[in-house]
Amino acid sequence: MENVYALIDCDSFFVSCEQAVSPELKSKPVCVTGGINGCVVSRSREAKKLGIPMGYPVFMAQKEFKNIIYIEGNQERYKDFSHKVMDVLKDFSPCVEVCSIDEAYVDFTGLCKLYKKNYYDLAVFLRQKILNEVDIPVSIGVSKSKTLAKFASDYAKNRGGVFLIGKSKLKKILPNTKIDDICGVGRRMKTALNKEGIIMCSEFVAKADDWLRNKYSITYQELKHELLGECIYKISPEYKAPKSIQETSSFAPSSNNKDFLKNEINKHIKDACRKLRKHNLKTSNIGVMLKTKDFIVYSECKNVAIPLNLEIDISKTAFELFEKIYNSELKYRSTGVYFSNLSDADVVQGNLFDLKNIEKSDKLSASIDKIEAKFGKGSIKTGFV
Ligand SMILES: [Mg+2]
Repeated sequence: MENVYALIDCDSFFVSCEQAVSPELKSKPVCVTGGINGCVVSRSREAKKLGIPMGYPVFMAQKEFKNIIYIEGNQERYKDFSHKVMDVLKDFSPCVEVCSIDEAYVDFTGLCKLYKKNYYDLAVFLRQKILNEVDIPVSIGVSKSKTLAKFASDYAKNRGGVFLIGKSKLKKILPNTKIDDICGVGRRMKTALNKEGIIMCSEFVAKADDWLRNKYSITYQELKHELLGECIYKISPEYKAPKSIQETSSFAPSSNNKDFLKNEINKHIKDACRKLRKHNLKTSNIGVMLKTKDFIVYSECKNVAIPLNLEIDISKTAFELFEKIYNSELKYRSTGVYFSNLSDADVVQGNLFDLKNIEKSDKLSASIDKIEAKFGKGSIKTGFV
C-alpha cells in the first residue's frame, strides 16, 4: 500500500490558545508577546492584516499598532494545549510524529477503510475534531511524502484548512513552485541549484539521481524523490530525547597548534548547541576531550549552576577546561566536546536575579536558529577570543 502522510500545523498557535481560553478575543487583532522587553511571537489573522511583523519589539508595536490587543505569552498554557492537540492525533492514528509544539505528522495510510472516508474527507474530519475538542484551528496538508505534506499544509492555510496533493495536482504544482519554497531547501541549496539554472521544482526533479548525488549529496537525491511523491522519510513516532550529546573530530596530521585546536572545539560547541536547541534541551555538565596521537585521552568536565544551551555561555567554560588539559608539548589527533545532565529548556532554574539573563540568552539562541534556518548552517559564528 502506498503511504499517505498528513502534516497538521496549528494556526497562529499561541494566539489560538489565548482565544480558546478567552473566546471574546476571537476574530480580533491579537498578538502574543514574549515578556515586557519581548517581541511579537504569534499573530492572529486580523493582526497580520494590519501589517505588524513577526518578532517586532513590543514597546514599538504598542505605539505603532494601537488597535492590537497584546497578551503576554504563557508557556505552560501552550504546552497544555499542545498535549491536547497531540492526544487527539494519537487517538486518530497509531502513528504520529510530533515535530514541535504546534506541528505533527500523522500517518493516514489505511485509515480510509477504518473511517470510511477518502483522504481529503479524512483531513476535513480530523480538522473539525480538533476544533470541537480543543478549540484550536489547524491546517492539514496531505500527500504521499513528508515533504509534499508539509508543502500542502502551507497551501491549506489560505484554502479552508485542508489541501491534498495527489498525482494530477503534483504535475501542476512542480513547474509553478520555486525550489526554495520547499521546506528544507536553505539558502545554500538554493544558490547551488540556481547556479545550474535550476529554479523551479520541475527542473530539479528532471535531473538524474547520479548527477544530484555526485554533484551535491544524497540529500538532494532524496529530496527529488520526496517531491515526486515517493516516501523517503518515514514518520517515526518514537521520540526519545538524547541523554547526552557529543561532537568529536579527528584530523591528520596530528597537531599541537592551539588556535587550530580551539577552532575545532569551537565548531563542536556550535554543532552540539544546535542539537541541544533542536531537542529543546539545556546542559548542566560540559566536557572537553583531547586525544593524543598515541591515543591517550585527556578530558575534563564541569557542572554549571544554571543549565545552558547558548554557544557564548558554554564557550567560556569549555575553553577553561581546554586550558586545563592542553599541553603544548603533545600532539593531538582528535578533539571533542560533550554535554550531559540534559534538562528541558523550558524549565527555568536559578534565582530571580538570573532570570533576566536566561531570558536574554533564550531569545538570542532562538534568533540564531531562526537566522540559520533562513540562511543556512554556519551563517552565524561565535568567536572564542
Ligand atoms: Mg503553526
